[in-house]
Amino acid sequence: MRILIIEDEQKTAAYLQKGLTESGFIADIAHEGGEGLFLATTREYDLVILDVMLPGQDGWSVITRIRQNKIQTPVIFLTARDAVHDRVKGLELGADDYLVKPFSFSELLARMRAILRRGPNRQPEMLGIADLEINLLKHKAIRGGQLLDLTPKEFALLSLMTQRAGEVLSRTLIAEQVWDMNFDSDTNVVDVAIRRLRRKADDPFERKLIHTVRGVGYVLEER
Ligand code: CA
Repeated sequence: MRILIIEDEQKTAAYLQKGLTESGFIADIAHEGGEGLFLATTREYDLVILDVMLPGQDGWSVITRIRQNKIQTPVIFLTARDAVHDRVKGLELGADDYLVKPFSFSELLARMRAILRRGPNRQPEMLGIADLEINLLKHKAIRGGQLLDLTPKEFALLSLMTQRAGEVLSRTLIAEQVWDMNFDSDTNVVDVAIRRLRRKADDPFERKLIHTVRGVGYVLEER
Protein backbone atom coordinates (compact mmCIF):
# COMPACT_ATOMS: atom_id res chain seq x y z
CA MET A 1 0.00 0.00 0.00
CA ARG A 2 1.22 3.43 -0.92
CA ILE A 3 1.02 6.37 1.46
CA LEU A 4 1.62 10.06 0.76
CA ILE A 5 3.06 12.16 3.59
CA ILE A 6 2.57 15.92 3.17
CA GLU A 7 4.63 17.47 5.93
CA ASP A 8 7.08 20.39 5.88
CA GLU A 9 9.07 19.42 8.97
CA GLN A 10 11.86 17.28 7.57
CA LYS A 11 12.36 15.39 10.80
CA THR A 12 8.72 14.43 11.24
CA ALA A 13 8.40 13.48 7.57
CA ALA A 14 11.52 11.30 7.71
CA TYR A 15 10.35 9.67 10.95
CA LEU A 16 6.98 8.86 9.42
CA GLN A 17 8.51 7.54 6.22
CA LYS A 18 10.89 5.31 8.13
CA GLY A 19 8.15 3.95 10.39
CA LEU A 20 5.78 3.31 7.51
CA THR A 21 8.46 1.63 5.42
CA GLU A 22 9.33 -0.63 8.33
CA SER A 23 5.64 -1.49 8.61
CA GLY A 24 5.59 -2.57 4.97
CA PHE A 25 4.08 0.51 3.35
CA ILE A 26 5.58 2.50 0.52
CA ALA A 27 5.70 6.15 1.56
CA ASP A 28 6.34 9.24 -0.57
CA ILE A 29 7.02 12.64 0.98
CA ALA A 30 5.96 16.10 -0.18
CA HIS A 31 7.42 18.99 1.81
CA GLU A 32 4.92 21.60 0.72
CA GLY A 33 1.23 21.86 -0.06
CA GLY A 34 1.41 22.41 -3.82
CA GLU A 35 3.70 19.46 -4.37
CA GLY A 36 1.51 17.32 -2.12
CA LEU A 37 -1.61 18.31 -4.00
CA PHE A 38 0.07 17.51 -7.31
CA LEU A 39 1.09 14.04 -6.13
CA ALA A 40 -2.27 13.31 -4.50
CA THR A 41 -4.11 14.17 -7.69
CA THR A 42 -1.78 12.55 -10.21
CA ARG A 43 -0.67 9.37 -8.48
CA GLU A 44 -2.61 6.64 -6.75
CA TYR A 45 -2.35 6.48 -2.99
CA ASP A 46 -4.19 4.38 -0.44
CA LEU A 47 -3.98 7.10 2.19
CA VAL A 48 -2.67 10.64 2.67
CA ILE A 49 -1.15 11.95 5.90
CA LEU A 50 -1.59 15.70 5.77
CA ASP A 51 -0.09 18.39 7.99
CA VAL A 52 -2.22 21.51 8.44
CA MET A 53 0.44 24.20 8.72
CA LEU A 54 2.37 24.07 5.46
CA PRO A 55 4.23 26.70 3.47
CA GLY A 56 2.33 27.82 0.38
CA GLN A 57 -1.00 26.01 0.33
CA ASP A 58 -1.99 24.89 3.81
CA GLY A 59 -3.57 21.55 4.64
CA TRP A 60 -7.11 22.95 4.56
CA SER A 61 -6.68 24.13 1.02
CA VAL A 62 -4.93 20.90 -0.04
CA ILE A 63 -7.78 18.68 1.16
CA THR A 64 -10.38 21.00 -0.34
CA ARG A 65 -8.69 20.73 -3.74
CA ILE A 66 -8.24 16.96 -3.43
CA ARG A 67 -11.97 16.52 -2.79
CA GLN A 68 -12.87 19.03 -5.55
CA ASN A 69 -10.95 16.74 -7.90
CA LYS A 70 -13.29 13.92 -6.83
CA ILE A 71 -10.44 12.00 -5.29
CA GLN A 72 -11.68 9.97 -2.35
CA THR A 73 -8.32 8.82 -0.99
CA PRO A 74 -8.61 8.77 2.81
CA VAL A 75 -6.84 11.63 4.56
CA ILE A 76 -5.56 11.80 8.13
CA PHE A 77 -4.77 15.29 9.38
CA LEU A 78 -1.66 15.62 11.46
CA THR A 79 -1.28 18.84 13.30
CA ALA A 80 -0.15 20.67 16.39
CA ARG A 81 -3.48 22.42 16.59
CA ASP A 82 -5.92 20.77 18.88
CA ALA A 83 -8.78 23.25 19.08
CA VAL A 84 -12.14 21.57 18.67
CA HIS A 85 -13.17 23.84 15.80
CA ASP A 86 -10.03 22.83 13.90
CA ARG A 87 -10.91 19.16 14.19
CA VAL A 88 -14.45 19.86 13.06
CA LYS A 89 -13.19 21.92 10.15
CA GLY A 90 -10.83 19.16 9.04
CA LEU A 91 -13.54 16.53 9.13
CA GLU A 92 -16.04 18.81 7.37
CA LEU A 93 -13.56 19.41 4.57
CA GLY A 94 -13.39 15.68 4.01
CA ALA A 95 -10.66 14.32 6.27
CA ASP A 96 -11.19 10.82 7.60
CA ASP A 97 -9.39 11.30 10.89
CA TYR A 98 -7.39 13.79 12.87
CA LEU A 99 -4.30 13.24 14.97
CA VAL A 100 -2.75 15.87 17.24
CA LYS A 101 1.02 16.20 17.57
CA PRO A 102 2.82 14.83 19.44
CA PHE A 103 1.31 11.48 18.58
CA SER A 104 2.55 7.96 18.98
CA PHE A 105 3.42 6.10 15.83
CA SER A 106 1.47 3.06 16.98
CA GLU A 107 -1.66 5.19 17.32
CA LEU A 108 -1.21 6.56 13.82
CA LEU A 109 -0.75 3.04 12.50
CA ALA A 110 -3.87 1.78 14.30
CA ARG A 111 -5.93 4.66 12.91
CA MET A 112 -4.57 4.14 9.42
CA ARG A 113 -5.48 0.47 9.56
CA ALA A 114 -8.98 1.26 10.81
CA ILE A 115 -9.50 3.64 7.89
CA LEU A 116 -7.99 1.31 5.31
CA ARG A 117 -10.19 -1.50 6.59
CA ARG A 118 -13.50 0.34 6.52
CA GLY A 119 -13.07 2.50 3.44
CA PRO A 120 -15.40 2.06 0.47
CA ASN A 121 -13.91 1.07 -2.89
CA ARG A 122 -10.52 0.45 -1.35
CA GLN A 123 -8.52 -2.54 -2.31
CA PRO A 124 -9.53 -5.69 -0.46
CA GLU A 125 -7.74 -6.58 2.74
CA MET A 126 -6.94 -10.07 1.49
CA LEU A 127 -5.43 -11.09 -1.81
CA GLY A 128 -4.97 -14.60 -2.97
CA ILE A 129 -3.99 -16.85 -5.82
CA ALA A 130 -3.51 -20.63 -5.76
CA ASP A 131 -2.17 -21.48 -2.27
CA LEU A 132 -0.82 -17.95 -1.68
CA GLU A 133 -2.70 -15.63 0.67
CA ILE A 134 -1.76 -12.06 1.44
CA ASN A 135 -3.19 -10.00 4.26
CA LEU A 136 -2.43 -6.40 3.31
CA LEU A 137 -3.38 -4.88 6.63
CA LYS A 138 -1.46 -7.30 8.76
CA HIS A 139 1.41 -7.50 6.28
CA LYS A 140 1.43 -11.23 6.23
CA ALA A 141 1.96 -13.56 3.31
CA ILE A 142 1.08 -17.23 3.70
CA ARG A 143 1.82 -19.93 1.18
CA GLY A 144 0.54 -23.47 1.58
CA GLY A 145 -0.34 -22.64 5.18
CA GLN A 146 3.21 -21.45 5.95
CA LEU A 147 3.98 -17.87 6.95
CA LEU A 148 6.59 -16.41 4.59
CA ASP A 149 9.42 -14.50 6.22
CA LEU A 150 9.63 -11.47 3.91
CA THR A 151 11.32 -8.10 4.22
CA PRO A 152 9.03 -5.06 3.78
CA LYS A 153 10.24 -4.61 0.17
CA GLU A 154 9.71 -8.28 -0.63
CA PHE A 155 6.24 -8.05 0.84
CA ALA A 156 5.47 -4.94 -1.23
CA LEU A 157 6.77 -6.69 -4.35
CA LEU A 158 4.75 -9.85 -3.75
CA SER A 159 1.61 -7.79 -2.97
CA LEU A 160 1.99 -5.78 -6.17
CA MET A 161 2.44 -8.90 -8.27
CA THR A 162 -0.52 -10.63 -6.62
CA GLN A 163 -2.74 -7.58 -7.00
CA ARG A 164 -1.95 -7.54 -10.68
CA ALA A 165 -1.79 -11.30 -11.14
CA GLY A 166 -1.77 -12.38 -14.77
CA GLU A 167 -0.41 -9.03 -15.92
CA VAL A 168 3.19 -8.82 -17.13
CA LEU A 169 4.89 -6.10 -15.09
CA SER A 170 7.94 -4.38 -16.52
CA ARG A 171 11.04 -3.87 -14.38
CA THR A 172 10.54 -0.12 -14.59
CA LEU A 173 6.96 -0.35 -13.37
CA ILE A 174 7.98 -2.62 -10.50
CA ALA A 175 10.84 -0.27 -9.61
CA GLU A 176 8.51 2.73 -9.53
CA GLN A 177 5.84 0.99 -7.50
CA VAL A 178 8.00 -0.78 -4.96
CA TRP A 179 10.92 1.61 -4.57
CA ASP A 180 10.56 5.33 -4.20
CA MET A 181 9.08 7.61 -6.78
CA ASN A 182 12.42 8.95 -8.03
CA PHE A 183 13.90 5.53 -8.34
CA ASP A 184 16.74 5.69 -10.82
CA SER A 185 15.89 2.79 -13.09
CA ASP A 186 18.68 0.48 -12.11
CA THR A 187 16.45 -2.46 -12.83
CA ASN A 188 19.06 -4.93 -11.62
CA VAL A 189 17.66 -4.17 -8.21
CA VAL A 190 14.37 -5.62 -9.39
CA ASP A 191 15.99 -8.80 -10.66
CA VAL A 192 17.84 -9.28 -7.39
CA ALA A 193 14.67 -8.70 -5.37
CA ILE A 194 12.72 -11.14 -7.55
CA ARG A 195 15.42 -13.75 -7.10
CA ARG A 196 15.24 -13.37 -3.30
CA LEU A 197 11.48 -13.42 -3.34
CA ARG A 198 11.43 -16.57 -5.43
CA ARG A 199 13.78 -18.27 -3.01
CA LYS A 200 11.28 -17.65 -0.21
CA ALA A 201 7.91 -17.71 -1.89
CA ASP A 202 8.30 -20.04 -4.85
CA ASP A 203 11.31 -22.39 -4.64
CA PRO A 204 10.08 -24.37 -1.62
CA PHE A 205 6.79 -25.09 -3.39
CA GLU A 206 6.05 -27.42 -6.23
CA ARG A 207 3.82 -25.06 -8.17
CA LYS A 208 5.65 -21.97 -9.42
CA LEU A 209 3.78 -18.67 -9.44
CA ILE A 210 6.46 -16.13 -10.42
CA HIS A 211 7.43 -16.31 -14.07
CA THR A 212 9.97 -14.41 -16.14
CA VAL A 213 8.79 -12.95 -19.41
CA ARG A 214 11.95 -12.55 -21.41
CA GLY A 215 12.72 -9.00 -22.46
CA VAL A 216 9.66 -7.65 -20.69
CA GLY A 217 9.50 -8.36 -16.99
CA TYR A 218 7.70 -10.63 -14.60
CA VAL A 219 4.25 -12.05 -14.08
CA LEU A 220 2.64 -13.83 -11.17
CA GLU A 221 0.13 -16.41 -12.27
CA GLU A 222 -0.93 -20.03 -12.02
CA ARG A 223 0.24 -22.03 -14.99
CA1 CA B 1 3.96 22.01 9.53
